[in-house]
Amino acid sequence: MTKALYPGSFDPVTNGHLDIATRASQLFEQLVVGVYDIPQKNLMFTTAERVNLMKKAVAHLLNVSVQPYSGLTVTFAQKIGAKALVRGLRMSSDFEREFEMALMNKQLAPDVELVCLMSSLDYQFLSSSLLKEVTSLGGVIHDMVPPHVVTALKKKLKL
Ligand code: ADP
Repeated sequence: MTKALYPGSFDPVTNGHLDIATRASQLFEQLVVGVYDIPQKNLMFTTAERVNLMKKAVAHLLNVSVQPYSGLTVTFAQKIGAKALVRGLRMSSDFEREFEMALMNKQLAPDVELVCLMSSLDYQFLSSSLLKEVTSLGGVIHDMVPPHVVTALKKKLKL
């Protein structure tokens, strides 16, 4: 059985993340979405909140599960028996960082392969950080995130 890990902060999950998770779930028999548990990173949602928002977003994908993790991503991948890491690549902005991380990860864990899926055209310029900024300024974000994430963002921002 080929298992893959899709790691990220997902602060919060967007339709861009969901698109990558959906497509990866069609390539691998099992997909684990790994939610970084990084207390020192300045995130809007707690790890438990990010996990719950992601769980709800992928509930219809039967071969996808969601787990928080801390420490090295490749170590977590090896622990759960994932053969590949899945990442999404947006136009120009993600490539260099992903390439750098991929080379480091390959040295740390040569047995874990990296699979990058190109972001769909609709989500090329969608990021969690931009989304949070736009929401805080009163922008309409309904077609960028699942409905329960709109609610969670508004609640968090007291809108
Ligand atoms: P990280 O802190 O690891 O970058 P993110 O939650 O920002 O965590 O992103 C997780 C993964 O999803 C990364 O591979 C990122 O490139 C990808 N991603 C983020 N936004 C999009 C998008 N709009 N379309 C496709 N992939 C995306």
